[in-house]
Amino acid sequence: MQVPFLSFDAQNEMIRDKVLEAMTNVFDSKWYILGEHVERFEQEYAAFNNTKACIGVANGLDALHIALKILGVGPGDEVIVPSNTYIATWLAVSYTGATLVPVEPDAATYNLDPKKIEAAITGKTKVIMPVHLYGQACEMDSIMGIASKHNIFVVEDNAQAQGASFYGRLTGSFGIANGTSFYPGKNLGALGDAGAITLNDDELTIKARSFRNYGSHKKYHNEVIGVNSRLDELQAAILSVKLPFLSQLTQSRIAVANLYHAYLSEIPQLQLPAVAPGATHVNHVYLILTDQRDALQQHLAGKGIGTFIHYPVPPHLQAAYQHLGYKRGDFPIAERIAGTCLSLPIWPGLAEHDIHYIYSTVKAFFHG
Ligand SMILES: *Cc1c(COP(=O)(O)O)cnc(C)c1O
Repeated sequence: MQVPFLSFDAQNEMIRDKVLEAMTNVFDSKWYILGEHVERFEQEYAAFNNTKACIGVANGLDALHIALKILGVGPGDEVIVPSNTYIATWLAVSYTGATLVPVEPDAATYNLDPKKIEAAITGKTKVIMPVHLYGQACEMDSIMGIASKHNIFVVEDNAQAQGASFYGRLTGSFGIANGTSFYPGKNLGALGDAGAITLNDDELTIKARSFRNYGSHKKYHNEVIGVNSRLDELQAAILSVKLPFLSQLTQSRIAVANLYHAYLSEIPQLQLPAVAPGATHVNHVYLILTDQRDALQQHLAGKGIGTFIHYPVPPHLQAAYQHLGYKRGDFPIAERIAGTCLSLPIWPGLAEHDIHYIYSTVKAFFHG
């Protein structure tokens, strides 16, 4: 039996005809950059995310970078980031020249621990960047409270959590400007790179629209030193086809996670994901922790089950951040997650018999 870590089969089958038709429409429109398809998707995604505006950009990393730039973040500013995240969150800050201030996650939810944020705030802190990691909403009431008390911006990294919420409010709608990613494997995925900024502020919306397009509103008139980071018409048209299916696809992910939880909770050697009160989890990743991670991964691979590690090296120990001078032991919770985490297959359409097969293979590993 073979269970791949990720399969697009079920969702592609669902949308195949509509996507091919949308691609043909863009081809025939003979207009490929910043046209009606981008405008339409921006409106649809803003409506979905319950924000006033959405600005399509080339990818999720650019969305975060542009969100920070339009807030004026730069050298001398400090930005609080999770020690446990995908490196893109950190890279976006590095591009601005601001200083990274990592804060440890909660050991059960793996998300930024609100109790540890205030100790990291200084007179230079300009932004807190919560990341709704693996698909679970961060504890946004505490985070927004701390930010407003200290007069700090919040920029959410919502790349993994489209449709998640905290006490009913959607992630990507709390911060002053937020980034998300439509990388193909994300919960809402394009057929290539794509991303978006979601926000409510009119002035920042104007700035972001200009910044993504060379810092220009009017062709050949440049107000600021911007970037070229536009969402393609083709990707926008595809995303417009996929967006109406997102809640169905999310429900399918949640059903898979619930089955995993029911089966795997009887295995005491595993730590399963915990959800904070008020938070929902859209299960971008189903992450388990075990001290025997590497052996378990090998065992599963031998039985045809694909797994992944999100992520094997935390940002502070990456070669790219060697210059910051961090060493092993500086962020022990992030390091423990990196050393023990394993992501099991989770995708819309993963069948119950596959989940049962994965469960019994995991069980045999520990009891065999
Ligand atoms: C995927 C991801 C990004 C970056 O998105 P890209 O579209 O790949 O640039 C940023 N942050 C997190 C947490 C992600 O998972």
